[in-house]
Amino acid sequence: MSNCKVLTCIVCPIGCRISVETGDDGGIGKITGNSCKRGIAYAEAECTNPLRTITSTVRVEGSQIKVVPVKTDKPVPKALIMDCMKEINKLRVSPPVRSGDVIIEDLLKTGANVIATGNSE
Ligand code: SF4
Repeated sequence: MSNCKVLTCIVCPIGCRISVETGDDGGIGKITGNSCKRGIAYAEAECTNPLRTITSTVRVEGSQIKVVPVKTDKPVPKALIMDCMKEINKLRVSPPVRSGDVIIEDLLKTGANVIATGNSE
């Protein structure tokens, strides 16, 4: 027996609705609805190891600007997002912070760095 999962591809703004057939063993079968190969890669990853890029803010001490925006420089496993957010929320940085600065290296051993996407002087 097979199941079907319907996903919206978020790789580009077209947002194809992709159907993924999965077997009872969790194996991936037929993938339809994608307009390009990137949709297949997205659907396979979403069914096996879904990933997300995190965007957030980090508190800045000793500056009139109290927070600086940050994001991960690559997606992290969706299952680790809450733990990653706890690490990011714990952090305090001192100015100056420049866009592109690495705020946390190898966040929770995911291989992703947290980088600033704004400035704080
Ligand atoms: S399948 Fe291809 S065209 Fe469709 S949303 Fe994904 S990346 Fe865009």
